[in-house]
Amino acid sequence: MAVQRKQVPIDGRLFKLPSSPSEKAHLIGSRCRSCGETFFPKRSYCANCTSPDMEEVALSTRGKLETFTISRATPPGSLIQAPYGLGYVRLPEGCIVQTVLSECDPQKLEIDMDMELVIEKIREDEEGNDVMAFKFKPV
Ligand SMILES: [Zn+2]
Repeated sequence: MAVQRKQVPIDGRLFKLPSSPSEKAHLIGSRCRSCGETFFPKRSYCANCTSPDMEEVALSTRGKLETFTISRATPPGSLIQAPYGLGYVRLPEGCIVQTVLSECDPQKLEIDMDMELVIEKIREDEEGNDVMAFKFKPV
């Protein structure tokens, strides 16, 4: 019998993989119950009003490209190869996600364009599971 390969998130605090085909992967943020600010990654107290009354929320999978840069050097030990895009995507909740972009051609990226969350396999772990990471791609 073939061993079932699993998908595992590279960091389970950042995003959640779908547990069934009808679900979509999403980033995990936190919303302040006192002032309503939303943050990514999730945090235990509010950076706006310092309240510790935070709830975990599933963030939108689409947002707008706030700004971006193209990295032409691969950082030591990195799993991504240069050139690659790095950007800030603003979600409808108001929080900004610092993310790798699927696109590294600056001609194809534009400030304020619609971006969508994608989950991609970046490597395999020792047990043969697919290790998944998130990035954003132009819609
Ligand atoms: Zn707050």
